[in-house]
Amino acid sequence: MTESDVHTLTGPFVLDALPADERARFEQHLTECAFCTTEVAELREAAVRLATQVAAPPPPALKADVMSAIEQIRQVPPLVPGGRNELARRRLGRRSVLALAAAALAVATTGGIAIDQYRDKQAAVQANERVAAVLAEPDARTVHGPVNGGGQATVVVSARADRAVVVLRDLPELPADRTWQLWLIDPNRTAHSVGLAGGDLTTVVNGSTGKIAFGLTIEPDGGSPAPTLPAAAMIPMT
Ligand SMILES: [Zn+2]
Repeated sequence: MTESDVHTLTGPFVLDALPADERARFEQHLTECAFCTTEVAELREAAVRLATQVAAPPPPALKADVMSAIEQIRQVPPLVPGGRNELARRRLGRRSVLALAAAALAVATTGGIAIDQYRDKQAAVQANERVAAVLAEPDARTVHGPVNGGGQATVVVSARADRAVVVLRDLPELPADRTWQLWLIDPNRTAHSVGLAGGDLTTVVNGSTGKIAFGLTIEPDGGSPAPTLPAAAMIPMT
C-alpha cells in the first residue's frame, strides 16, 4: 500500500473490514492524519444515523388482533333462510357481522399503519445493508470534497461492487423549487445522473466503475437531463 492509498481506507475501517495488519497501520495513520480522523468520525455518524432511521417493528399483539378479527368474521356462519327463529337469528347475525366488521376495520386500519412502518423499517434495513456491503468491499476507497456554499460530500467507491456510497452532509438549504442532483462523470466527461437529494443524505449509487468523478449540482425540481454548471461539488474518484 502506498502512502496516498492509506487515505482511502476510512470506509472499510469504520466497518471493521480491514485485515489486522492494515487496521493497525491505519490506526497509526489516524494519529497523524486529521483528514482521515474527521472522515472516520463522519462515516461513523452517518452509520449511526442510518441505524436510528430504523423504526420499531409493529407490536406482535396488534398483528394478532388483526388476524383474530379476520378469523372471527370468517367464523360467522352465512345467513341461510329457514327455521322459525330465522328473523331473530338474522338480526343477531347481522348485528354480529356488522360489529365484527367495524371492529376489524378499526384494527385493520391501525394494523395498516403498523404494516407501513414495518415496510419502512424493512426498507431502512435494506438500505443500511446496501451501504454496509459497499463499505465492506475490500477495494472500497473513500474520497471527499467540500460543497460550494457549505457542507461536504463523501464518496466511498468500490469498483468490485460497481457501486458507491454517497454521504452528503451539512448542505445549505435550497429554495423550494430546487433540488440537489448527483452525477457520475465518465472519462469522456459525460455526466450520468444517479439520483436527486432534498438535503443531507446517505445513499448507494450504481454504475461507479470506470467513472472518474462524482458531481453534485443544483437543478430545478425534478432534476435535469444534463448538469447545470458550475457544479456545487466535483470530486475526482481516480
Ligand atoms: Zn489520511
